[in-house]
Amino acid sequence: MQIKAFAAQSPTSPLAATTIARRETGPKDVAIDILYCGVCHSDLHAARGEWPGMRYPLVPGHEIIGRVSATGDLVKAQQVGDIVGVGCMVDSCRHCYSCDDGQEQYCEGQHGWLQTYNGWLDGSGENTYGGYSASITVDEHFVLKIRHQEEQLAAVAPLLCAGITTWSPLRHWDVGPGKKVGIVGIGGLGHMGIKLAHALGAHVVAFTTSPSKVQDARDLGADEVVVSRNPDEMAAHARSFDFILNTVAAPHDLDAFTALLKRDGTMTLVGVPDSPHPSPSVANLIFSRRQIAGSLIGGIAETQEMLDFCAEHGITSDVEMIAMSDIEPAFERMKKSNVKYRFVIDMATI
Ligand code: NAP
Ligand code: ZN
Ligand code: ZN
Repeated sequence: MQIKAFAAQSPTSPLAATTIARRETGPKDVAIDILYCGVCHSDLHAARGEWPGMRYPLVPGHEIIGRVSATGDLVKAQQVGDIVGVGCMVDSCRHCYSCDDGQEQYCEGQHGWLQTYNGWLDGSGENTYGGYSASITVDEHFVLKIRHQEEQLAAVAPLLCAGITTWSPLRHWDVGPGKKVGIVGIGGLGHMGIKLAHALGAHVVAFTTSPSKVQDARDLGADEVVVSRNPDEMAAHARSFDFILNTVAAPHDLDAFTALLKRDGTMTLVGVPDSPHPSPSVANLIFSRRQIAGSLIGGIAETQEMLDFCAEHGITSDVEMIAMSDIEPAFERMKKSNVKYRFVIDMATI
């Protein structure tokens, strides 16, 4: 089936209208008409070829909310008309160490986890195409149930990547009451990190390079806000954090943040800049047994857990709605850290 989509044809060509093929609905497939798709910084990195291994045409989009239009004969959990979500993954091997553990994003099968876009389909080598499109067909295991209210759906889309990418490390490193937690970078991921860490009961300190976001960060749930370019404000928090989640999408000095960790504290990186951070100081780590870690999105079961937690606590993303044709100006604003706090495309405009 041919459907409408927006694609980059090369790292230097702007996204533009095209058509792509979607497979027929297989026995375990769910066919979804896409209502909303969030705009992740990864979409920009990928479309512009800032990461290695990108293949074109590239149709970004992995924060997908839609309505089920058809289901295969063996599908049990979804029905035509249901509102569902699809995130960064559409398949994995299902039987490796990580898949057995519900951590499909770390799949160690021959082809690894299958990315929603720029994924390499088994055997055929064909590309996968993401949510900047009218519809998508996905194996039911990778389709999430959405329990939010209908009027919240546009603001739920970013939970499928920004939400789970911050939820998974916050849970893995036991963020909750009695813990002092830093969230670095108040963009799409960071603003969700603030909301989720606050809802989990931690003392939350937001770090921003943008003084204009200080009041917003408080409104999002931060107990304190630090302008990270101000050394005095940074020094006031030396050796005090249990955990720091760093969402920054650009190379920067990590030592400024590891110095704020307590003994045995961890800073987890989720941002994937196009060039490396300056090498961190070993002494900063050794002398207080501090750790720098990384984390990749989250598994399907924990994504459902996060979505249900958010529905129960009334948590959604702060979004700016755009039409599909506004994607290039939106990318330009994202590059300048000027988004409050996630663009979401109304897919009715494709
Ligand atoms: P975003 O909305 O652009 O937010 C990034 C924020 O980082 C900006 O709003 C800005 O916050 C801060 N920042 C930007 N440039 C900076 C600089 N030079 N120095 C210090 N701070 C800077 O991006 P996003 O969608 O949240 O994504 C963030 C990163 O995570 C991207 O690299 C993305 O590819 C990656 N990502 C990783 C995963 C994963 O699984 N690990 C999943 C999704 C996305 P302030 O204005 O507050 O400083
Ligand atoms: Zn993403
Ligand atoms: Zn696997």
